Amino acid sequence: MYVKMLGATVVGVEGRLIEVEVNLSSGLPQIAIVGLPDPAVRESVERVRAAIQNGGMKFPLDRITVNLAPADMRKEGTAFDLAIAAGILGASGQLPEPPPDGTLLVGELSLSGEVKPVPGVLPMVERARKEGLKRVVVPRACVAEASLIEGIQVVGIGSLQEWIQGGEDAYVSREENGVRTSGGFPGFALNGTEPDLSDVIGQHHGKRALLIAAAGMHNVLFVGPPGTGKTMLCRRLPSLLPPLDDEEALAVTKIYSVSGKLQGERQGLIRERPFRSPHHSVSAAGLIGGGSVPKPGEATLAHHGVLFLDEMPEFPRAALEALRQPLEERQVTIGRVRGAVSFPAHFMLAGSANPCPCGFWGSERPCTCSTLTVARYRARMSGPLADRIDLQAEMPRQAAPGAAGRGMSSAEGRALVAEACERQQFRYRGSGIRWNSELFGKLLAQHAKLAPEAEALLANAYASLGLSFRAHDRILKLSRTIADLAGSDRITEEHVAEAVRYRCLDTNVTG
Ligand SMILES: [Zn+2]
Repeated sequence: MYVKMLGATVVGVEGRLIEVEVNLSSGLPQIAIVGLPDPAVRESVERVRAAIQNGGMKFPLDRITVNLAPADMRKEGTAFDLAIAAGILGASGQLPEPPPDGTLLVGELSLSGEVKPVPGVLPMVERARKEGLKRVVVPRACVAEASLIEGIQVVGIGSLQEWIQGGEDAYVSREENGVRTSGGFPGFALNGTEPDLSDVIGQHHGKRALLIAAAGMHNVLFVGPPGTGKTMLCRRLPSLLPPLDDEEALAVTKIYSVSGKLQGERQGLIRERPFRSPHHSVSAAGLIGGGSVPKPGEATLAHHGVLFLDEMPEFPRAALEALRQPLEERQVTIGRVRGAVSFPAHFMLAGSANPCPCGFWGSERPCTCSTLTVARYRARMSGPLADRIDLQAEMPRQAAPGAAGRGMSSAEGRALVAEACERQQFRYRGSGIRWNSELFGKLLAQHAKLAPEAEALLANAYASLGLSFRAHDRILKLSRTIADLAGSDRITEEHVAEAVRYRCLDTNVTG
């Protein structure tokens, strides 16, 4: 006997529906799974067998063929267990109430028959809704996550046995499941409790740089001796950034779903911008994603948020080089035997760096590095990556921290950033971009026009400081953000003059 069930898998961060066909024929008892299954899917047979037997049902002593279609897509993970079990039970006449047409089945089975959560439920349910399916059956632990998608019935089950015995009653509507929808889920604290900007004493120049970076989502690098608060400042970026809008929130939550990071207390739509801070021992694959079953890397986990590289020159060159693609294309593409997999990676890069290996170059304490070492170190910083950093701010050692004062709080900063964001959103409506840092080509020329005296100042700086063409454009974008923070449509001399000061690597690299 033959039956067909619907399962799903994830490619990159998008869900794909998979047909699970099961055929029983007479012959020697054996089971074959065809259609490019990976090892975890092959092992599914043993889990399904045990789950069926321990649930008090019979595993058929027939020749069983399971076909996963389409055949040209590699099937990964354990999410097919439930569909395969339902198929085998259906084909052997043990399903009193087969799932109605248009039902997606997702879940991993334990040997006892418990239905366990799997990563990627959110994109799978999103795909099911897009393809017009009526309902999804998911592990009970994933009900809240699945219910983030509007317009599809969500049925949560705890075990295979309970589901089979539930019959028609298993398909209760989700209102009866007691699950709220449409923004009813408070976001969980993705980054933990956020430190406040007012904790950082003094460093008004650094705070100003941080504010500008947040207002335009500009990549930012702080350069200064140890103990000047570079890291403290960067860790306060999330406290300044506006919350994710609906579309961004869904995109970010899907990434965390696929990465298996939406479990237990961490359920609901993510509204906070992610802040990722990988250690400098991270591999290139850890940073941008990879592996035999490609998983999102830090660059993708930082999508629509911040990727913070503390002590940036300490990161291996290969890892930094790997970031060039996402910084330019705002996504990561990983080549595989069967087609490439893409992960979104539109993040703001924040970095900190000492001015030299010992940390004291240019400060009042003597630097113990040789001229050559300093030059090499700076070359690593001002390489291809630094060229993609709009804002390079120097953090000097402070004389007397007590006298410096606390200055702006995160709430004050957040309000200024929010206003600047509104100006950008209004200006770029319908253009496909959202932030000043995304301006390029025609859009840059159109939206970052300088007043004549500002134009003259930039031309002068360009010539006298020997700025690169890229640096020139970055100053334009920064000037646009500085003007937005001042509530000005016009970009004046004052705005450009401030932007030029944030190119310390271009103007100060003399070793
Ligand atoms: Zn030094």
